[in-house]
Amino acid sequence: MAFKLIDLPYADTALEPAVSAETLSFHHGKHHQTYIDKMNAAIDGTDHANASLEAIVGAARGSNQGLFNNAAQTWNHGFYWHSMAASETAPSDDLKAKIDAAFGSVDELKEQLKARGAGHFASGWVWLAEKDGALTIEETHDGDTLADQDGVNPLLVVDVWEHAYYLDHQNKRPAYLDAVVGSKLNWTFASENLARETTWVYPN
Ligand code: MN
Repeated sequence: MAFKLIDLPYADTALEPAVSAETLSFHHGKHHQTYIDKMNAAIDGTDHANASLEAIVGAARGSNQGLFNNAAQTWNHGFYWHSMAASETAPSDDLKAKIDAAFGSVDELKEQLKARGAGHFASGWVWLAEKDGALTIEETHDGDTLADQDGVNPLLVVDVWEHAYYLDHQNKRPAYLDAVVGSKLNWTFASENLARETTWVYPN
């Protein structure tokens, strides 16, 4: 089964000025597409050809770095598109209670996400996740992912690779984080992920 580029869940102008249509045209239309194309080429005719994306990520981790990178990046970007929303969203009562318990408030969580994103060295991802029943901020480097990690349920992610923000904010990663974390995170998506208690599945 070949994997497909999933549609953006909003218009390409919907996240402006935090993330422009121009950025999405490259980030979604070129970067994400290229990860998918390389993964599809790598699995064609192999035992992975009919596996789920999540199974491919898990099987390739530690054994096939090239396939892992492209499969994990395919998953991460799908999760990232859904981690942002065009209009303002709010956490469910259950998510809000867990945020308050772990961070004190939604605003404090946002500050910590921004700080971790700004402080992350080089390329990677900053996540809000549930681990052992409590919320935590996690970082992964390069293409690494939480998609296949036992006992960890990712709720939201922010891409901190330069390609996510350079056209709009140049070298100012904190400006990108202010804009996205400040008002574009999809708390409805995070609430759904928390309620499901199983890791999101790439909608191929
Ligand atoms: Mn990216």
